[in-house]
Amino acid sequence: MYQTIVIGGGPSGIMAAISASQNHQRVLLIEKKQGLGRKLKISGGGRCNVTNNLPYDEIIKNIPGNGKFLYSPFSLFDNQSIIRFFESRGLKLKEEDHGRMFPVTDKSQDVLDVLIAELQKQHVEVLENSPVSAITASDNHYTVTLENGKEYEGRTVVIATGGTSVPHTGSTGDGYDFAKVFGHTITDLFPTEVPIRSSEPFIREQTLKGLSLKDVALSVLRKNGKKRITHQMDMLFTHFGISGPAALRCSQFIYKEQQQQKRQDIQMQLDVFPDMNEEEVKQKITKLLKEQPDKIIKNALKGIIETRYLHFILEQAHIDLETTYHHLSVQQINDLAHQFKAFTFTVNGTLPIEKAFVTGGGVSIKEIIPTTMASKLQDGLFLCGEVLDIHGYTGGYNITSALVTGYVAGYYAGQFTYDSIEA
Ligand SMILES: Cc1cc2nc3c(=O)[nH]c(=O)nc-3n(C[C@H](O)[C@H](O)[C@H](O)COP(=O)(O)OP(=O)(O)OC[C@H]3O[C@@H](n4cnc5c(N)ncnc54)[C@H](O)[C@@H]3O)c2cc1C
Repeated sequence: MYQTIVIGGGPSGIMAAISASQNHQRVLLIEKKQGLGRKLKISGGGRCNVTNNLPYDEIIKNIPGNGKFLYSPFSLFDNQSIIRFFESRGLKLKEEDHGRMFPVTDKSQDVLDVLIAELQKQHVEVLENSPVSAITASDNHYTVTLENGKEYEGRTVVIATGGTSVPHTGSTGDGYDFAKVFGHTITDLFPTEVPIRSSEPFIREQTLKGLSLKDVALSVLRKNGKKRITHQMDMLFTHFGISGPAALRCSQFIYKEQQQQKRQDIQMQLDVFPDMNEEEVKQKITKLLKEQPDKIIKNALKGIIETRYLHFILEQAHIDLETTYHHLSVQQINDLAHQFKAFTFTVNGTLPIEKAFVTGGGVSIKEIIPTTMASKLQDGLFLCGEVLDIHGYTGGYNITSALVTGYVAGYYAGQFTYDSIEA
């Protein structure tokens, strides 16, 4: 009889197994695939953005999917605990922009190695290549059954099976079915942090393909044309639509607007001069043009923004690239400033959930005790990581959530007794 059986060998399950075994409890970690932490290994482009150094409030803001739920688990284990965990075990971390923390070696394998070494140090038994097919609860214990028919018994179980994105890593959504058996609700599942599709002519014709714009403001519009969300970051035009940090952050709101507007086509807006208002942009353009009134417009405005985008926006504003300031009307300059500030285009959705960095939705957090990660519906059952309805932007927030909830789930699963409940 194990004290705790953890299902899922991603960052959340590994951390749960580590913390469950802290007081020499017998812990079993079961992973479907050969090799632990497959998603962790490809995270952060193979560098693993393992956490974020920003203050709590900023971290929570960057976890639009129920980030506030993490305040409670943070009181036991937070982003600083993650940093200490790795650094005290010999893996130094470095901070990059926006508080993002990476191993100094730039290798996700080194993050995984620290976690695996800790599992070994604490004598956690690990089964790989062992998909779990069922969890059943009987009197004061659980039976976990593998696809090959083998059974294991534990006083507590931690479900840490991840979401459904990038399924070749092993995360295929099995945990939702396990949780449902115990009466848990699975909220609507949707792709987040995923590129956005558009069939606008300029995308189909690949006019801007490969063009990346720095520090622009990208917005998702509501039905009434008001902005639902804006993200000011870099973005990239691709052969099917848009990608890059700003687009990834906007992606979940495309899904949400599609649900709300009950249609596929959603409007987005791009502002390439987010730190100026439209009047200031107009003045900037006018000043440049007045200084070189005889130059053709595409040359007079050269350098104001990436050349391909300049030409594209001039076309959107119906301005001949070869014309000069002398032939431009005030209205045309106004239109140009407006296009720079509010180029509006239609998108048709995102790439599917399988291609998403993160799964939105999951086991409802209303049914989880935030201080312990215990199920409110089933004694001795704990859940953590991406299987829960918690999702963050890219920037280290998802692994943070996985490690934090994993630590807390394991901590309480490792010391759980049924006597305490009965008493
Ligand atoms: C390409 C990519 C890059 C990313 N980069 C970052 C990043 O740099 N920073 C960041 O914060 N987040 C990043 N993320 C998100 C982050 O990796 C995940 O949120 C995180 O791995 C979730 O951890 P988890 O342990 O909950 O789930 P997972 O890592 O998905 O692990 C779940 C594990 O459970 C196992 N499992 C599933 N079903 C069963 C079963 N039936 N029996 C046994 N085992 C099972 C799976 O095989 C898997 O190993 C990235 C995601 C992707 C796809």
